Amino acid sequence: MKSKSFAQRLPIAIAVVLVALLAVLAVLQWQWIGEVSAMERHRMRMSLFIAGSHFTEDFDREVTRAYLYFHAEPMTPPEARLDRVLRQYDRWNAEAPYPRLVRDVFVMRRNSPKGESTLEVLWPAEHRFVACPWPPEFAALRKRWEEAALEPPSSPVARSLTVAGEIPGLVIPLTFSPPAGESPRPDPLAGVHLLVRLDQKAIVGDLFPSLTRRYFENSQGSDYALAVEAKGNPRQAVFLSDPKFPMASFGAGDLGLDMFRLRPFDELRSLRGGRSQATVRGRDQVPPPPPRPRAERPERGGRTASGERRRESGAWRLVLKHREGTLEDAVAAVRRRNLGISLGILALLGTTMGLMMVATQRMQRLARLQMEFVAGVTHELNTPLTAMRSAGQNLAAGVVADPGQVRRYGNLIESEGRRLSDLVGQALELAGIQSGRRVYHPRPVEAAEIVDGALQDCRWLLQEKHVAVEREVDAGLPLVLADAAAMRRAVQNLIENAVKYGGRAGWLGVRVRQGASGQVEITVADRGPGIRREDLPHLFKPFFRGRDAAAGGMPGNGLGLSLVSHVAEAHGGRVTVAPGEPAGSAFTLHLPAVTAAEQVQGVEEPA
Ligand code: ADP
Repeated sequence: MKSKSFAQRLPIAIAVVLVALLAVLAVLQWQWIGEVSAMERHRMRMSLFIAGSHFTEDFDREVTRAYLYFHAEPMTPPEARLDRVLRQYDRWNAEAPYPRLVRDVFVMRRNSPKGESTLEVLWPAEHRFVACPWPPEFAALRKRWEEAALEPPSSPVARSLTVAGEIPGLVIPLTFSPPAGESPRPDPLAGVHLLVRLDQKAIVGDLFPSLTRRYFENSQGSDYALAVEAKGNPRQAVFLSDPKFPMASFGAGDLGLDMFRLRPFDELRSLRGGRSQATVRGRDQVPPPPPRPRAERPERGGRTASGERRRESGAWRLVLKHREGTLEDAVAAVRRRNLGISLGILALLGTTMGLMMVATQRMQRLARLQMEFVAGVTHELNTPLTAMRSAGQNLAAGVVADPGQVRRYGNLIESEGRRLSDLVGQALELAGIQSGRRVYHPRPVEAAEIVDGALQDCRWLLQEKHVAVEREVDAGLPLVLADAAAMRRAVQNLIENAVKYGGRAGWLGVRVRQGASGQVEITVADRGPGIRREDLPHLFKPFFRGRDAAAGGMPGNGLGLSLVSHVAEAHGGRVTVAPGEPAGSAFTLHLPAVTAAEQVQGVEEPA
């Protein structure tokens, strides 16, 4: 008893442990997904920052290169500096990696604070500077420059002029500040500046798209939209990588990086004159780069300048925005996807575990049923065998000599033998059904045909017991889908029971009529004593025999009704029992009718 209750509780305990394990797994997964999301956020930020830094650095490198090509060489005497600009222009076009960057070169002159400022443009064909009017788009720069033209090159005002974002261009002085401690010497080029105008069409139409492709696109396209805005005029986009994302849609963006500024690139060191920067006069001609905050330092080494440097912001700003809203939205989408996958896996795991538990319980129940079946069959076999053996012994010992008695013994052996055959046949049928080996061949058939066949099979029994049969079949009934032979045996079983348990009434009612929800009902009723209430829940279990049947010595093995119920269920129907009218009991088979469509198409016989 103790071990049974333990065996019963074991699956529940296992189920509880498994559910607890699943819950722990779910919590761990949740935490793990949180950590993965945090790492994913960090990774996305880092890779975005690195890609953005490469973009701005590549552009700034070309701008700084242009500046260094045209900046004044300290050792060149003032009168030769413009000639050097002409030579450098040729060199730029011959050897710069991206010569289209420079559109044209101007000289801006203002020799005294009150004097008129003039503009000359470089005519490459004639290799000289030619006076020209001030273009209207230079107006703002001209105003700023006139205010600052006579300031020393290292003064803050002069330095702020270096990059003109709105042109876009570079303002390069042709003179130098004296080294610390030295007094300024008169310089004929004081107040003279070069204006190197960059080609915005080439930048926006060629350089930026190629940098975007290089740093932001993979085989699936780009996850980010890029915008380059002019500082001071942030609503005006200099460049948009995707016209579907206008400037207004960027908001604060996921990352903003300054660009269009001069920076000390190691690979451009040779363009600065090749001498130690400390000894070169005018070393501050290239505005020093700002020291980057730690987090902003690019991964690649050797690019940042060492030492004390002032921070200088760029004239333009690169703004990056994730296409799915913001970077946080993209991280949330990844998190949702991971959560979905994890939940799916957990659900699969839970379902598998549940199914395994159900399968285990089913196997246990099947094993128990098999044991009960074997026990039931052996018990039922034993009774007729004992009777037959003792009858045989008596006959063999010559105890029975009277011919009448010999006939009785013969009849006994014959009836017990039939009982044995019935039992073996029913046991085989039940075993076939339970193991799934029994295959039915359903066809559309009339229910009345099944009933009449069963009555025909039972005609000797009915005659012998003097049972009056009342047959009632409704007209216009649909066909039922049934294995006619199996269903006929099931109805025969019900008829035999009605005769056996119908008492002295000698009446049997068989009724076929239309049932609910498209079913056809076959009812077999008797007017016997009926069925005890406590027997009702067990009637259809194999080897169950009613208390009165067993006590009254009624022949039987308790397999009949369980077979009827199996056959009905295998046909998609069921069997029910109800009290008879006015007495007895009525068993009803509910069988699915053939639908009109099935009737037209014909029903395929299962393999
Ligand atoms: P068996 O008839 O061999 O005992 P069944 O499975 O056919 O086995 O029936 C199981 C039990 O159901 C019977 O022992 C009997 O108690 C009860 N039973 C079946 N049919 C009737 C009926 N028509 N009237 C009363 N009791 C019945």
